[in-house]
Amino acid sequence: MFTAVDHPLAQHYLTDLRSIETDTPRFRASARRLAYLLVAEATSDLQTVAVDVETPIETTTSGRISVPIVAVAVFRAGLGLLDAALDMLPEASIGYVGVQRNEETARPMEYYAKFPPMADARVLILEPMLATGGSLAWAVGKVKEHGASDITAVCVVAAPEGVAHMESEHPDVRVVAAALDRDLDENFYIRPGLGDMGDRLFGT
Ligand code: URA
Repeated sequence: MFTAVDHPLAQHYLTDLRSIETDTPRFRASARRLAYLLVAEATSDLQTVAVDVETPIETTTSGRISVPIVAVAVFRAGLGLLDAALDMLPEASIGYVGVQRNEETARPMEYYAKFPPMADARVLILEPMLATGGSLAWAVGKVKEHGASDITAVCVVAAPEGVAHMESEHPDVRVVAAALDRDLDENFYIRPGLGDMGDRLFGT
């Protein structure tokens, strides 16, 4: 299932990310601010349990999240969403996957993978640019191999090709993004997109 986050603030920060005039410090800040909204949507269906809580006025019942959360950052660009995810979900455990795109074939090649236990957790895969879908589908396959079954992908921009790839290979995975863009160029960059997310985050 694909969800576009069309909250006005999400669109505002996305516009910053798209603009060629946005420098690296502002790009990082806008990515982090947008990530709060994306993570809020990616966790909007989480179960809560009612707990007793004492306010300064009286005792009441109120909800607390009842499932463990794992955030999996896909190198490099996923790191740009991680701080906000951990700010909102400080108890979350963290996994990392390194996957490099073969520039000629756009196929994913693994160079790093390390995961916490994921069997009972909501797993949030932080993969900002859903282009062909190759890297995200590969990362989802990897977390499933390690026991994950409740998986949501947190993206900034998605291309129709990537969404279709995910729907055919992993129809059980929810994909949340701030925009569904038009298509891919001949180098598999998203159009209109925002360019290379890793380069813009890290100033490379
Ligand atoms: N990765 C990026 O950083 N940008 C794109 O447009 C596609 C993949």
